[in-house]
Parts: sequence; C-alpha cells; structure tokens
Amino acid sequence: MNKNNNKISKFAYLVAIFISSPALALDWGSSMPYVLSSILVFSFGVLLLAHLSILKMRRYQNRLEQSEERLRLSLWGSGDELWDWNIANGTLFRSSSWQNPVDLKPDTNQFPPNRDNIHPYDLERVTEQLYQHLAGETPFFEATYRIRAADGGWVWVLDRGKVVSTDIDGVATRMTGTLKNIQLLKHTEERLELFARCLENISDAVVICDTNFTVLEVNQSFSEITGKSREQVIKKPFDLAMYPSRFLQEIGLALQNHGSWQGEIKDQRQNGEIYQAELNFDIVRDDHGLLTQYVAVFSDISERKRREAELSRLANSDTLTGLPNRAVFSSELSRLVEREVRHALLVFDLDNFKKINDSLGHQLGDTLLIKLAERLSQLTRQKERLYRLGGDEFAILLENTNDIHTITSLAKELIKQINQPFFIHQHELAVTSSIGIVLYPEDGKDPEALLRNADTAMYHAKNDGANRYLFFNDSMNKLAVKRLQLENLIRHGLKEDYFTVYYQPKMDILSGQLVGMEALVRFITPKRGLISPASFIPVSEETGQIVEIGEVVLRKACRDVKRWIDQGLFHGRVAVNLSVKQFMLPYLCEQIDDVLQESELPSYHLELEITEGTVMQSPKMAIDTMKKLRARGIHLAMDDFGTGYSSLAYLKQFPLNTLKIDKAFIDDMNTARGRNMVDTIVTIAHNLSLTVVAEGVEQAEQLQQLKQLRCEIIQGYYYSKPLSAADFTQFLLDQKHSKPKLAAVPNLIS
Ligand code: C2E
Ligand code: MG
Ligand code: MG
Repeated sequence: MNKNNNKISKFAYLVAIFISSPALALDWGSSMPYVLSSILVFSFGVLLLAHLSILKMRRYQNRLEQSEERLRLSLWGSGDELWDWNIANGTLFRSSSWQNPVDLKPDTNQFPPNRDNIHPYDLERVTEQLYQHLAGETPFFEATYRIRAADGGWVWVLDRGKVVSTDIDGVATRMTGTLKNIQLLKHTEERLELFARCLENISDAVVICDTNFTVLEVNQSFSEITGKSREQVIKKPFDLAMYPSRFLQEIGLALQNHGSWQGEIKDQRQNGEIYQAELNFDIVRDDHGLLTQYVAVFSDISERKRREAELSRLANSDTLTGLPNRAVFSSELSRLVEREVRHALLVFDLDNFKKINDSLGHQLGDTLLIKLAERLSQLTRQKERLYRLGGDEFAILLENTNDIHTITSLAKELIKQINQPFFIHQHELAVTSSIGIVLYPEDGKDPEALLRNADTAMYHAKNDGANRYLFFNDSMNKLAVKRLQLENLIRHGLKEDYFTVYYQPKMDILSGQLVGMEALVRFITPKRGLISPASFIPVSEETGQIVEIGEVVLRKACRDVKRWIDQGLFHGRVAVNLSVKQFMLPYLCEQIDDVLQESELPSYHLELEITEGTVMQSPKMAIDTMKKLRARGIHLAMDDFGTGYSSLAYLKQFPLNTLKIDKAFIDDMNTARGRNMVDTIVTIAHNLSLTVVAEGVEQAEQLQQLKQLRCEIIQGYYYSKPLSAADFTQFLLDQKHSKPKLAAVPNLIS
C-alpha cells in the first residue's frame, strides 16, 4: 500500500513541473520574477492538491484495511469461514478463519461446490436447499451437514449463504456466505437430546425443582405414576399430599447437609389411589458449585410391596389353617424369653389324629385341622395367640400370665371346644386332645427347654389317659432324661450287637403242630439285662433307630431259619415284624432281596407282619409295596388287627395272606360281646380268603372257643413264650421227637 502512495506523489510532482515549464519559456527575462512566482504558486498548488489527494486515498485505504481487519476479526471471533462462489466461472474463494475440514479446491465446477467432501447422507438435502435458494424460492440458503475433516472423519457445519449478484435474466452469478464449525454444538445438542430422550423413557419418575421445591420439569413417567399432567404441576410447589409441609423442609435440610436423601413414601395418585414409592432426592450445582436445583427420582413400588407382604404372610403363616406358623412362634417365644416376660406356653395335639388320617384320608384330616383352627381362634384373644407348629400340633402363648386359674380355665375350655363333634363330609368326628403346659421362667430358662418340657408334659397327659391337660413338673423332666438315655443306649446296643431275636411258635389249632414262628426282637445289655420291647420300640420308632434294628432282626431271623431248615427241623415260615419306617423305605424290597440272598433262605419261608397304622399311612403306596413283596413269594400278615382304624374298603384291596387278631380281643373272649367280636373278625378274614392267627392265647378255654370259631392258627403262652434261638432249637427238636410227623406247611409256595 505504501508503495502505491509513493507512486501517486511522484506523479503529482511531475504534473506540476510539466504545467509550469511553458511559462518559463515565454518571458524568461522581464517577467522572470512574475513567471517564477507563478510557477512556484502553480507548483505549490499542484503539490498541495496532489498531497491532499494522497491523504484522502491513504484515509480511504486505512478505512478499507480497518474494515477488512474487523471482518477478519469478526470471522475469527465467530469461528466462521467466509466463502465467495462465482457461479458464472465456477471459482470459489474461501477465507480460512478456522481450521478447514479439508483443503477444498478453490475453483470447482461441481454443484454444489465441494460436493465430494459433503457426507453422502446429507448431500441430497444440501443440494436441494441450494437449488431452492438459487431458484429464488428461499430468501437465503441455510444447511447443516457433515463435511469431511482433515483426518478423514466428518465435521458438522452450518452453511449460510445468499445470492449477491445475478445477470440480466435474473440468473444467480455470485453467492457469498459463511461456514461455521458446529461440531461441538452438535455434540452437545446430541447429548442433550439423548438425555432428554432417556429422561422421557425411563420408568422412574423424575421431578426437577428449584431450591424452594417449585417444580421446573417432570418426565412422562411422573405423569404415569401420579396421574398428574406436566401442566398441572409445573411452576407449582412439589406436593406430597400425605405429608405435612415440614417433611419437605426436612428433606431440603438433609439435601443441603448431605447432598442426597432417600426414603420410602406413600402418596396419592390423581384418582385418589394410594401408592408407595422409593424416593431419591439429589442436588444439582452449577459450574461455581452453587446449589441450583433438586432432582427427585422415584419409582412406584406398590406392587413390589404388595408381593413382599404376601411373601411374608406366606412365610409366616401356615398355608393350611392360616394361623401363624412355627417360625413366628419360635421368634415370639424367643422375644418373650429375651425380654424376660412372664408367660405360659400350652402345647397340644389331637390324641387320635393319626388314626383319623389313616382311616378317613388326609384330605379329611386337613379339613378337620382347618375347622379346629377356626374354632380355637375364636377362643383365643389377643394376648393368647394360637400357632400351628406342624401336623396336628398347636401352641398357645399367654403373655404376662402365670396365674394358674387363668391358665387352667383356658386349658379346660380348649378341651371342651375340641371335644365338640366335628361334622365333615357326612362324618361325625369326636376328637380329643392332650395339653402340656409350662410356665416361664419356672419351667425353663430358654425357648428350647420350654418347648421340650411342654412336649414332655403333653406326652404325660397322653399316657395318663389323654383328653386332659398337665402342667410340667420336674419328675417329667427326669423321665425325659431317661428317654434320652435309652436312645443313647439303643445306639450303643446297635454298635455292640446287643440286639438278638427270640422266636414264638405258631401252632395249627386242629393238629397242634408247629406251622411257623414269629421273630421278636430282644434287647439285652450286659448292665441292665433284658429291656422290654414296650419301652425301647416306641423310642426307636421315634428316633428312626427301628430301621437299623429291623434289619438286624431280619438278617438274624433268616439266618437262623435257614439253619433249622438245613437241619431238617423246620419247614414253615418265619414272621418278621416291619415297623412303619421300615415299610416306607424306598429300598425295602432291595434290602429284603439282599438279606434273602445272603442267608440263602427261599423267599416263601418269609412272612412280614405289618400293622393297620403302617399301611394306612399311605394306602396306595402300601398296596404297591405289598404287591412287590407278594410277587417275590413273601407272605404278608396284618398284625394287631382291630386296634387300628383300617377301613374294610381298603382291607379288600391289600394283597394279604394272614390276619392276626390282637391279644386284646382274645382277652375279651370271656364275654359274649368279645366272642362275637372275634367271630366277626374271623368271618371277615375268611370272606377275604385270609388265614386267621389268634395272638396272645394263654388258656385252653380260649383255644376251644377259637377252634369253634374256625380260627386256624394259635400264637401264645398257651403253647410257648418267645424263646431264644438256642431254646427254639430245643423246641424244634422236642417237636420232632414227640411228634413223629412235623406239620407240613400246606401250599407253602402259593
Ligand atoms: P407283636 O408283633 O404283636 O408281638 C406279639 C407280642 O405279644 C410279643 O410281645 C409277644 O411276646 C406277646 N405275646 C405273645 N403271646 C402272648 C401271650 O400269650 N401273653 C402275653 N402277655 N403276651 C404274649 P413282645 O415280644 O414284647 O413284642 C411286643 C411288640 O413289639 C410286638 O408285638 C411288635 O409290635 C413289637 N416288636 C417285637 N419285635 C419286633 C421287631 O423285630 N420289629 C418291630 N418293628 N417290632 C417288633
Ligand atoms: Mg407281630
Ligand atoms: Mg401282634
């Protein structure tokens, strides 16, 4: 620019000299001073004019420079790039105020210019918009699109331009505009859009409030959960209808102190319905750390809460009766003991429930329990809570009571209520119950001791004749200790092989000859001698030790009988008792197979005695097992017939061979009624094609009567007590020698 200025000044001087030179030539002598002065004045004037024009030009140039500088600065400041497109000749001028995405070709005849660098997805739209503007359809061109970056990637730009000149036909010849890098803006926009979309789509309700809890924004889920529209709540105070206003103040305080708040709340939907929500409040700070907003996020947990409540109800209540179950009882008892609250505990069960279940079916048994629970629930008040501990066992806790009068009147009332007949499915059921009672702290210092002692008292009540209540006392405790000692002794006896087998003969009533024998277990310890089956069998049945005892008896009996058969002393069957627990063993048949194989005793020499109670536990399963045993050639006898609750309908279906009449009926034969009873049993047995064995025959008179009633086999002290294996060998020898012919067992293999 300075170079140009100098050129102009020099030119002005030359003009001044040129103009003044003729004057000098005209009158050089006389008019010399005048001419000289004129020349000087003229030159001066020319110079002045030239100078002035130079100054003007310089000012103009300065302004131009400044304006260019300002344009450059403003473009730089805005981050925009200026472009100038000469449409006529296809050249494109671009200022490079920002790092160009790519080195765009300055002259291109492409349309739009630089189309190679426009993202293919955007190209069509950009072209369309450019066409529209060039056609005069839009006042200006504006397009957002991606343009290739120097690194090969894409950069979002905002391109704005306008046609600045047209030819005489109105066809655009030049267009100018700016290109703005909006990559960052676009990125932020996309993030914001993403957040907004997420906010709208999450299932949790979101409420944004200012620090005065005025609602600024809510999402869609908020409206879905609360039933309130955005318009209804926006710019209004955040409202928790079921809480006083100070609740929100407290939350605000917690937010300021701790930055967050969590809790479960109850609120009301627009339709008045109450719902439960898990509410989380957090704070929002600006870049300077200033607290600007609160954000509440909450989810509707009503359904979850309902399910939890249902689960806890199911976990805590007995599904059959709906009463609180054993778990609740245990925690309640522990609570009372921990807090040392005086209380009484009554534990009771039905004396004859098993028989009802066995004979009338479990479904009826269940109905009975439901009806019983209903009846007793009405009896017990709030301070006397009734629990079902399992099966037919119930408990009542009387809090803050150890007044004997209150307790005994409750126990009496319980018995009275239980004794009232129950009418179920056309059956009238008379049930009784035995109740054991303990007092805290007198009868036990911990829940286990209390429950154990209450159980002990209940068993004593049963043994004392049942249908009664009994308070626990120390002597009962001693008996419980004895029972535990017996259990230990049985364990020891099994280890030391103290269990042995005695045999009691079974005689044919007509010929008086031996047809078989019953194997009866004997427990003989070195210290205590013979322990009666009456005492150890019930205990071992309770503890499950009977399974092992039963196996020992079976093995020993099969071995002994095989020996007697081999010695030619015996040809009949040995009857072995099976307890319910043995009979229920899933591997019973395999166990018997194994024993028979080991002893080499043919299966038709074995008979198994089972009781009515055993088969009635699960009659269908029992029939199955019995059939499997019969298929092996093993005989089956129903033991102690008449003492259980077996139904004739079932008796018909059981694949039995023998029916053993219980000793109690034989003892009763001295009365006409007793005789009739035995007569009926024998008739039923014969109708079912069963052989009848009379147990416990002690007198010749009984034998005569049984003969008349056509009973086939006799077992009892009349012939012999149970004998040890050695004594039984002698008995067999005596039989062989005293009687020339041993009774041959007819149809042994049938
Ligand atoms: P049970 O199977 O009914 O056996 C008959 C019981 O009556 C035997 O008592 C026998 O000694 C007794 N008895 C037989 N005749 C007379 C008599 O004329 N007068 C009297 N007063 N009693 C007589 P025991 O041996 O004491 O057995 C009692 C019960 O123990 C058995 O009754 C049976 O239920 C059970 N038991 C015995 N041995 C076993 C065994 O090995 N396994 C199982 N599971 N139970 C057994
Ligand atoms: Mg028996
Ligand atoms: Mg019996």
